[in-house]
Amino acid sequence: MNALAATNRNFRLAARLLGLDSKLEKSLLIPFREIKVECTIPQDDGTLATFVGFRVQHDNARGPMKGGIRYHPEIVEHDEVNALAQLMTWKTAVANIPYGGAKGGIGCDPGELSTSELERLTRVFTQKIHDLIGIHTDVPAPDMGTGPQTMAWILDEYSKFHGYSPAVVTGKPTDLGGSLGRDAATGRGVVFATEALLNDHGKAIPGQKFVIQGFGNVGSWAARLIHEKGGKIVAVSDVTGAIKNTNGIDIPNCDILIPAALGGIINRENANDIKAKFIIEAANHPTDPEADEILSKKGVVILPDIYANSGGVTVSYFEWVQNIQGFLWDEKKVNNELKTYMTKAFKDVPEP
Ligand code: GLU
Repeated sequence: MNALAATNRNFRLAARLLGLDSKLEKSLLIPFREIKVECTIPQDDGTLATFVGFRVQHDNARGPMKGGIRYHPEIVEHDEVNALAQLMTWKTAVANIPYGGAKGGIGCDPGELSTSELERLTRVFTQKIHDLIGIHTDVPAPDMGTGPQTMAWILDEYSKFHGYSPAVVTGKPTDLGGSLGRDAATGRGVVFATEALLNDHGKAIPGQKFVIQGFGNVGSWAARLIHEKGGKIVAVSDVTGAIKNTNGIDIPNCDILIPAALGGIINRENANDIKAKFIIEAANHPTDPEADEILSKKGVVILPDIYANSGGVTVSYFEWVQNIQGFLWDEKKVNNELKTYMTKAFKDVPEP
């Protein structure tokens, strides 16, 4: 099932449970604005290359729209970005931060572009969307294939049109107004979410066996922090392959599975093989609806993405607040506030 169809289906189910008015349901399914732009850049060899950039602004009822910008070859159509933008609306609501949802992306393989090509691409993309983003309208952040450097380029390009406005993006380098603790925030939030869930089941991280699929920013920080807290990481994988520990523990025999890469990775083909009792959705929409049903029937507890990975956008909110206040928090304050938000959100979203 395509990402948008799956996300819409989950939303409709939630709308039924909430008894949401059907007109409101329809208005929430249709994005506020969809932007698609041509981004042509000169490559290092002097020839031209054209990429397509997207920004989908899903909803702004709760505040400025907020969400990452992803550079990935699979960002080829609106649907994927649309689904991710919608998830940001629900995520910021679950985290109870004053934002709506948005998401952007460029269909490209960042690994195949040089740093200067990436810079030109990011600046061209910013030139095309600068009038549609802003501190109180839409605030981009990093996602897959982008990071603090990408945010620095967007900020610099945006500032040429609108004056210096550090709060227009979050996830910036700390020298440019980025928040301490933002880099680790999504992974740290995943760990706080895991602790809240385990606590609810009378368990704790020490002694639990974890498998982490995806070892980028989110997976690697989650792994590091779980290890520090005494959890046993029995296997990790990324796009290049997988490793498991020398004790020879079977990969599916873990207690807790943390998908931390692309969407749709848990589907009807592999759902029956999953032996984990808990799945923590560190990625966005890693479990498709068919797998959701199979796993629910098996009694597997799934901690949904819109809660489990909300630590990143929550610390983005702290960054935005610090920029607007012109005041820098220390890392301890950032991490403590993150824990407060994650713990509260867990209590606010009980199982039906
Ligand atoms: N890209 C991250 C997410 O999917 C963070 C978004 C943000 O900080 O605005 O939640």
